[in-house]
Amino acid sequence: MPKDVPVARRVNSNLTPPKKRTNWWLWVGLAIFIAIAYFSITNLISTPKNLSPEPAAAPIVQATPTVPPTDNKVLGHFAYIEAPLDSLEVVAIAADGHEIKLRSAAAIKFKQMLSDAQASGIELLAISGFRSIKEQQQLFFDISRQRNQIPAERAKVSAPPGYSEHHTGYAIDLGDRNSPSTILNPSFDQTAAFRWLEQNAAKYSFELSFPQNNPQGVMYEPWHWRFVGDDNSLSTFYKYSK
Ligand SMILES: [Zn+2]
Repeated sequence: MPKDVPVARRVNSNLTPPKKRTNWWLWVGLAIFIAIAYFSITNLISTPKNLSPEPAAAPIVQATPTVPPTDNKVLGHFAYIEAPLDSLEVVAIAADGHEIKLRSAAAIKFKQMLSDAQASGIELLAISGFRSIKEQQQLFFDISRQRNQIPAERAKVSAPPGYSEHHTGYAIDLGDRNSPSTILNPSFDQTAAFRWLEQNAAKYSFELSFPQNNPQGVMYEPWHWRFVGDDNSLSTFYKYSK
């Protein structure tokens, strides 16, 4: 029997440690559980404060490649990509000697229009065709400063750089050689050249970009015409329309 005592003690002493270990791990587990629960609750409580800046940032980053039409507008003008230089063709030489260029498809139709107008006794004058974003920068900012105009005022008569139809190589400003005082002036619509354009320009796929009360809110520009006679020009100008 005395031999049994140590055995029993040994059994007891063998059983106790595992029990203690089990309890210890239970407590550790419980502590981890409480910690996780605590952090989840803390996060839930602070969610409204922390989340507000994040969703605002995320959609902007994702939306950049496919900007909705309304975001592509600056002071009433749409964004346009500059025509590749090798797609341009000289259609006329301006009074100051610079070459007036249009994209090939537009150039072909413009030259036909010019000679047909001439055959009808109309002297169309090409004033300005393709314009690079750099050139538009001068036209917009330098003249704004010269004329003491703020951008919003300037944008009524000139597009901000990157937002001019002239960048596309499809737009051209026209005048009447026989009426120099109406050049780049709304009174151009009183000339024989304008009346001829109104009646004939569509035959050559040219249209007025900024008629009176245009939805873009750009000043009436009877001299500014654009080519819409092929897939690329059509989608360039009409991708933004409602
Ligand atoms: Zn123009």
